[in-house]
Amino acid sequence: MSERRQTSQIQVGKIGVGSDYPVSVQSMTTTKTRDTDETLGQVYELANNGADIVRVTCNELEAAESLVKICARSPVPIVADIHFQYKLALAAVEAGVHGLRLNPGNIRNEKQIKEVARECLNANIPIRIGVNAGSLDKDILEKYGDAVPEALVESALLEARYLEDVDFHDIKISVKHSNVPLMIESYRLLAETVEYPLHLGVTEAGPLPGGLIKSIAGISTLLSEGIGDTIRLSLTTDPVEEAKYGRQLLEYLNLRERKSLDLIACPSCGRAEVDVIKIAAEAQEVLEKEGLPIQVAVMGCVVNGPGEARSADLGIAAGKKRGHLFIKGQVVKVVDEKDMVGALLKEGRLIAEEGIDARLAAADADAAQIAEEDVKELLNIQGDINNFEQKTKSVIEITTNKDIEN
Ligand code: SF4
Repeated sequence: MSERRQTSQIQVGKIGVGSDYPVSVQSMTTTKTRDTDETLGQVYELANNGADIVRVTCNELEAAESLVKICARSPVPIVADIHFQYKLALAAVEAGVHGLRLNPGNIRNEKQIKEVARECLNANIPIRIGVNAGSLDKDILEKYGDAVPEALVESALLEARYLEDVDFHDIKISVKHSNVPLMIESYRLLAETVEYPLHLGVTEAGPLPGGLIKSIAGISTLLSEGIGDTIRLSLTTDPVEEAKYGRQLLEYLNLRERKSLDLIACPSCGRAEVDVIKIAAEAQEVLEKEGLPIQVAVMGCVVNGPGEARSADLGIAAGKKRGHLFIKGQVVKVVDEKDMVGALLKEGRLIAEEGIDARLAAADADAAQIAEEDVKELLNIQGDINNFEQKTKSVIEITTNKDIEN
């Protein structure tokens, strides 16, 4: 991972955005904003699943009215999404939103944009310039002939200049494209040109799994280059999923502290002593509900499992109809195969309560001994995987031996 790109800092309600702060997760409601209760319900759900900031559309007067209550009762900052009607931007500011997103492609009147900026300046709230390849300013589109990175960046810079003209600098920018390589190029170019924090996303990424793959490819590439201060996975699915995946992505990249389960599992192979796919899915379901912020490993065989997953907080490996439960690679208990998932859950809870060291100290006295015997027995049957290199060498020597050839 490259060092984070240095940016100016802005404040979206209680969430700081920019290089001084952790990268944050955004999502967007799919409810009708005029339906206050339904929208607030979804805002809470998104916040509970990892969203730091939630965007809601402000597409009609009733939506702006509803924003008064939504903003007052929301657990996370609310950003109003504005298209075409600048008066709705003014109404949203009045309603108490914590930020605006303006699309420069469809609010094009300089005077109106500056009026909105002045109101935001008075209210002390930031504006995201949200350029979208699909709704690019038509003059700029004409000039470049296509939604190329230079066109997206020019649109953003033009809008930024209008805001700067009225001394407004609490700006965040996005240049979203549905084509991943073009999205990456657009953000790279923008990052070289401005100091403002950037909001990353692949627009119209689509349903799972393709939408997720596209979003992760684009966003991760940029984050690994130190580019990006907030992210959104624009998926055609329940927005709770995009909030959850966004949060997980940041945790996997070590950009946010782990708050959720990280289940790792071997891909399984001919050595597997259980159905790893099934056990891993069961463990994921049960442990995720507990919300344990630990790394848990499900490994298909005791021969390699505990060693390969030694960095996991907790894990289980199968062998001889038993499960070897291990903490940081050390076997602490041996259970029946049918109790593997239950044992993970029980030990996971105890680790959360007592900590790793206490649970290592509480290991069953005979666990390590039983585990060692199981491994020995399996190695006698299957062969020692650690000797494979030597054996392979011998096989090559035999097959290339001239005496045999002759
Ligand atoms: S842990 Fe065992 S079963 Fe899983 S992939 Fe490795 S060798 Fe195969």
